[in-house]
Amino acid sequence: MPIRLLSSEVASQIAAGEVIERPASVVKELLENSLDAGAHAITITIEEAGKRLIEVADDGSGIPSVELELAVSRHATSKLVRSEDLFSISTLGFRGEALASIASVSRLTITSRVKNETEGARLHVEGGHAGKLTKVGTTVGTTVRVADLFYNVPARLKFLKTDVTERRAIDSLVTRYALAYADKRLKLSDGKNVTLQTSGDGDRRAILAALYGVDVARQMLEILSEEDRYRLTGFISPTSLTRSNRKEITFFINGRWVHEVSLSTALLQAYHTLLMVGRYPLTALFLEIQPGEVDVNVHPAKAEVRFRNQDQVFSFVQRSVRKALLAYSPVPNVASSLWGMTRTVPTEQLSGQVGIDWSIAHDEALSVGSDQLSMNRDQRLETPQSPILQSPVSDSEPARSQFIPIPLLRLIGQIGATYLVAEGPDGLYLVDQHAAHERVLFEKLMTQHGMKNIPSQSLLTPMAVTLPPHSSQLLITQLPILQHFGFDVEEFGPNTFQVRAMPALFTGSDPSAALRALVEDFEEDEAPLQNEIEARLAARVCKRMAVKAGQVLSNEEQRALLTDLEACDSPRTCPHGRPTMIHLSVDMLERQFGRRGAR
Ligand code: ADP
Ligand code: MG
Repeated sequence: MPIRLLSSEVASQIAAGEVIERPASVVKELLENSLDAGAHAITITIEEAGKRLIEVADDGSGIPSVELELAVSRHATSKLVRSEDLFSISTLGFRGEALASIASVSRLTITSRVKNETEGARLHVEGGHAGKLTKVGTTVGTTVRVADLFYNVPARLKFLKTDVTERRAIDSLVTRYALAYADKRLKLSDGKNVTLQTSGDGDRRAILAALYGVDVARQMLEILSEEDRYRLTGFISPTSLTRSNRKEITFFINGRWVHEVSLSTALLQAYHTLLMVGRYPLTALFLEIQPGEVDVNVHPAKAEVRFRNQDQVFSFVQRSVRKALLAYSPVPNVASSLWGMTRTVPTEQLSGQVGIDWSIAHDEALSVGSDQLSMNRDQRLETPQSPILQSPVSDSEPARSQFIPIPLLRLIGQIGATYLVAEGPDGLYLVDQHAAHERVLFEKLMTQHGMKNIPSQSLLTPMAVTLPPHSSQLLITQLPILQHFGFDVEEFGPNTFQVRAMPALFTGSDPSAALRALVEDFEEDEAPLQNEIEARLAARVCKRMAVKAGQVLSNEEQRALLTDLEACDSPRTCPHGRPTMIHLSVDMLERQFGRRGAR
């Protein structure tokens, strides 16, 4: 075939393919145009998941009649003149492509009026061909009506998902924009039923409730973090609230919804080891940075950006989220119901009425323990009833959470060959030996791994382990990582591996159990990050290698376990997020025994 110039019709349909992928993309472009026009109220009407109709009406600045035809032409924009302007762009649009693209794959009608004209104008474009401009009486603002999307590109239509899925994409998009622009009045309806309506009063938590339900919205932690050039606001989920995928991680940069891998990574690192492996947080975070610091022109639908100082942005986000988490995370579930019973007791009531005289019984522990005791009490008393927290995160704020160290514990013994019983300065502790040991092993292993120095112990006789074919395939892909972790494993024949060494931490344990643990329920999901895989593997092996419930421990072993646990960064949960201990405070014991108030 000879080379030919494409007709403008074909060229614009091809161009439209990049920007307009599905009904939700149309909604996004129109919504962004309305926001750029300074609209305060935006009404979106959707019929048949947007395939039949998408209409966006706003009360923004409008378009002068004489410019209406230009607005739907390709490469026509009022938002930028020179390419340098790209680096000081403060509008959401700038490519001058959206309206033209939409018009080339639908029947589009645009009606608009500016303030200083008495009449508005209307233009109908069908498959890219504009009709005649007509004068119409209308209010100030713009209404764009997009009917029969993709009517002239049937191939595109075939790629659309079910109405339910396409509709959900629109709902989720509009709700997120509503959240980002809480000061705008947004209304989404299908002509009959209103799906979403916001008041424009700026209350983000109320909109969060529309997105996730009241219960989730109530639990979300508010974040406000500022450093000289960056500002991060919004909400993150506490560690007790997670999802099995990353779909609920939302980031806006300068008012633009982006899917920015580096920001998600920063976020996940902030949650690192605080969440069960394979669980992800929910977030709605809004990052503001100077326009010159970010290149928004790297993706046709503007869904990705590039930062000038990627590392700085990354660490700012990570630091801000981590700080907020450490400051606000509630204590783990099981314990929290117990803690909850004592939460409202004022500190004065506690002192003096404690049945045990710690200054005598715990001379040694007291010097360290008393600080922690008061910290624990503070935590208990200051944790608000509902975790709606609005105070900004600042450097000076102490971390009040389960991540504060546990006090020094005095071992009493083991019960049911499963739990350790210990006494602390403020009551009784029941420690799950398996969960506690998992945590201890996990932190030791990850620390050694972090220092790239995992002591490895050679086996006296190498051991052959045979795995099912599917598992051995998996194991082969993980061999390099295993080496980092101090395993020396080699393929030894079909589906058979030879273990020659393993981490010294696991000395005495069964190497074949370790290997099997590594490939058990391994889900090959959306290419997890390297450090996620590693943490996941580490958590899995530690679970398998940890002492079991039902295993009788010697006194020395019990004591060593408590000491090791005290040294952990997050002693109160196992790496999978379950509690390692239950705390029965003195106060609570007194209440349970009816001592409180009876005296
Ligand atoms: P871009 O937004 O990248 O400039 P578009 O094709 O989306 O390109 O829009 C072209 C132009 O039409 C915009 O630059 C703007 O001047 C005008 N426009 C589009 N939608 C609206 C609207 N809702 N209100 C006012 N002006 C609008
Ligand atoms: Mg636009």
